[in-house]
Amino acid sequence: MPQQLTVDYTKCTGCRLCELACSAHHENKFQPSLARLKIVRYDDIGVDIPNVCGPCEEAPCVDVCPTYAMRRDPITDMTYVDYDKCILCKSCVGACVNGVIRLDTESMRIIKCDHCDGDPECVKICPTGAIQFGPPARSTVVDRHDKAETYLAEMTRTASEGES
Ligand code: SF4
Ligand code: SF4
Repeated sequence: MPQQLTVDYTKCTGCRLCELACSAHHENKFQPSLARLKIVRYDDIGVDIPNVCGPCEEAPCVDVCPTYAMRRDPITDMTYVDYDKCILCKSCVGACVNGVIRLDTESMRIIKCDHCDGDPECVKICPTGAIQFGPPARSTVVDRHDKAETYLAEMTRTASEGES
């Protein structure tokens, strides 16, 4: 059965160990810009939101690729890049609703999450359990974005109440 990364925003402390573990695993470097997930910090309200690959019912990165280099594995549902076909047009980078497909300008290749072949390093390293890996919930990516928006709105309201 396909498995997906899921995020509990309330548990993320912004330690960014997940980014370091991801880049170390894939690139042998502690370099967040090479991680396949991204922690977005909202300094004004003291909130960190982990952005991870999926779950996408429709994968825009696959739909937008002009050379069919971005594919979806029919068994795992995970998307992956066929580097023999990739022309580095960056269409998938722009199409990713989670902002976690990147062009590595050093190696000149598209980098994206691969779920660490089923044993995600980000999940293992997260000290608070903010990122989990398991069978997909019924929620879609839209639900997840709605939840992030709701969480951010609530935290903003709480922060402004604290100031008044
Ligand atoms: S390791 Fe966990 S708590 Fe730390 S930044 Fe990543 S998701 Fe947040
Ligand atoms: S599952 Fe692996 S590749 Fe994907 S974000 Fe986590 S550590 Fe990176």
